[in-house]
Amino acid sequence: MTIDVPQDILDALTDVDMPRLPPEAAPSEVSRLACVEVPVYRAGCVVVGSGAAGLRAAVEMKRRGDDVVIVSQSAWGGTSACSGSDKQTLHTANTADQGDNYKAMARAIRSGGAMDEDTAYVEAVGSSRMMASLQFLGLPLPQDPLGGTLRYQTDHDEVGRATSCGPRTSRLMVKVLAEEVIRLGVPFYNQTTAVKILTEGDGAGRHVVGMLAMRAGDRTEENPLGIALLVSDVIVLAAGGPGELYRDSVYPNGCFGSLGLALEAGVELVNLTESQFGIGTRREGFPWNLSGTYVQAIPHIYSVDAEGAEHHFLAEYYRSTQELASNVFRKGYQWPFHATRMLDFGSSLVDLAIYRETAAGRRVFMDFNRNPLPVPGDLPFGLERLDEDVRAYLGNAGASQAMPIDRLKHMNPLSIELYRRYKIDIAEEPLEFAVNNQHMNGGIMVDTWGRSNIGGCYAIGEAAGTHGVTRPGGAALNAGQVFGTRAAEHISASGRAKRAAAEDITAIAEAGIGSLLAALRAESPLTAKSLRTEIQARMSEKAGILCDQESVGGALIEARKLNAEIRKKGVAYSRGAEAVRGVQWRHMALASEAVLSALDFFIRNGGGSRGARAICDGQGESLPLARAGPLQDYRFRKERPAHREEQIVVRLDGDQIGLSTRANRTFDEKARSFFERDWPAWLTGRTYDLARDK
Ligand SMILES: Cc1cc2nc3c(=O)[nH]c(=O)nc-3n(C[C@H](O)[C@H](O)[C@H](O)COP(=O)(O)OP(=O)(O)OC[C@H]3O[C@@H](n4cnc5c(N)ncnc54)[C@H](O)[C@@H]3O)c2cc1C
Repeated sequence: MTIDVPQDILDALTDVDMPRLPPEAAPSEVSRLACVEVPVYRAGCVVVGSGAAGLRAAVEMKRRGDDVVIVSQSAWGGTSACSGSDKQTLHTANTADQGDNYKAMARAIRSGGAMDEDTAYVEAVGSSRMMASLQFLGLPLPQDPLGGTLRYQTDHDEVGRATSCGPRTSRLMVKVLAEEVIRLGVPFYNQTTAVKILTEGDGAGRHVVGMLAMRAGDRTEENPLGIALLVSDVIVLAAGGPGELYRDSVYPNGCFGSLGLALEAGVELVNLTESQFGIGTRREGFPWNLSGTYVQAIPHIYSVDAEGAEHHFLAEYYRSTQELASNVFRKGYQWPFHATRMLDFGSSLVDLAIYRETAAGRRVFMDFNRNPLPVPGDLPFGLERLDEDVRAYLGNAGASQAMPIDRLKHMNPLSIELYRRYKIDIAEEPLEFAVNNQHMNGGIMVDTWGRSNIGGCYAIGEAAGTHGVTRPGGAALNAGQVFGTRAAEHISASGRAKRAAAEDITAIAEAGIGSLLAALRAESPLTAKSLRTEIQARMSEKAGILCDQESVGGALIEARKLNAEIRKKGVAYSRGAEAVRGVQWRHMALASEAVLSALDFFIRNGGGSRGARAICDGQGESLPLARAGPLQDYRFRKERPAHREEQIVVRLDGDQIGLSTRANRTFDEKARSFFERDWPAWLTGRTYDLARDK
């Protein structure tokens, strides 16, 4: 049996065209600020970013009658529009099977620890509504003949709450949301990069008054960098994750996120120690996760050294061909690296082995035209000699074909099509891949409405630090949709974005432009390129899946030095476009110091291995074993249970990174809503806890 899907249907799910944007609205005025002719745009709320999260917030606000505009570095750039795994996923809790218990789902979402319990519940309970509204907008999520959503199991998901419309699910989400944004007439400023958040007031009274952006379309002789002023009391940061932090990365190119932008404005960040790493093809080619069916087809994995010799390196780790093949399969739904899965010959030994091969200068490949070679002295690969869970899955999927490419063709023909689009035919040639950085679980610290610590500044999507140590696959897209909606509801209830802001913020804007320009110096020896090389190498080599106290401490010292140098010398540029990159790399340098500070703080305080990273330590309690013997260099510390109950908060105090911890917010599972008692809070708006925003 082979899934027989006509080519045009596969094409439509793989090549997703984006709608055409309407012409941009003109600025309301032009002001001479700090000797620059600056166009001024006024709005009730500015959404920064046009990924799935930002578009959702804009749609929800506009539908509630708010004056909202979108600014985006690149309209269809970012992670939602340009990446995906072989199946993007959303959380489903709406079918009458397991998984329709929101409390159980919330427990699964926060099971890795260091996550606010109320946030996990918000994401779980909001998920059905998100799915239904995306379906209403036209997202083609697959259904059974009676309308139930087709679901499957993904990583950190014991129940099977994931669904997908194929490899381009998140791009399809962007498409349907963008079409709605256009239908609703939300002004959209493309090629517009937010470079500075403008605030007023001190302490708890500090609040947003607008932002500075750089816009290609506003570059003139009197304004060579295209600086634009956006006046608004409310901003929603939906700028995605800091993909450019790492050299070894499966993010699409040009993902800078907003961590540095936020830190500079006094916004607090959280959980920066938590990321996701896993196997995929790098962004230098076509960035894509090799999870799901790519590995469930069980291709042969090998490396090639500088002399061109092949190495069957996984055989040095696993004790039998069956164990090796079954763990390659398990990467399908245990995709992210997880330290404890290196133990007991688990699936993260695959990541460790690949990481070591690449660190040793070998290139690693997946060959779909060969089954895994046998472990020396053991039986050859056979579909009948696989662990029970693996055999059962392949049996249910009808994947009994002799070769991996035919099993893949059968289970997911789109996965082959997808690489063909990028001129890589995995049916013909092996696929090169590596262990890459893929997701930032931490980010801007927000409450259950997406509010940051600065009045009027919200964060949603990957920009927000709402995930804990682990997240089930698909939870990122779901969180962006849920919090995009929650932030919009809150902003709307506050009434602050009903009309475009009318304030005169000349003095604040002039000071902002002054400091922006002071940090850009044509003669500086620091260029965007030199910063990129230094920061990315440091992060990939010292803050990847394997860390230790000494090398993280050393990397932090270097990161601090770099920021001190940037403060002293500025960043060089010669053209407007380079100036934008210069600012973004200055922000990335800050973000990198923030991540390393949090990691150093965590390790120095006894932090152990969890989620993305193994904390290697000669005195560590856990020792991964390989067929050839114990892997002493990778002995690692266990996680301390107390660390699951708290989160590390990071802020910028002057030029210094400040660190503290806070306990996770809790959620009382026993508390029940009661209609007559709770309705008045909803009717009067008390539900939104607006007192804090006065
Ligand atoms: C390979 C890969 C596979 C993944 N698979 C899954 C999956 O299966 N399921 C899942 O849930 N998640 C997955 N994720 C994560 C998920 O895709 C992202 O977390 C999510 O798409 C982020 O959406 P977002 O709207 O927050 O940001 P993005 O989609 O990244 O959008 C950010 C937007 O902000 C803009 N922007 C950035 N900086 C600025 C600025 N300074 N000024 C103005 N605009 C700016 C960008 O141009 C872009 O429009 C995956 C990620 C990767 C890399």
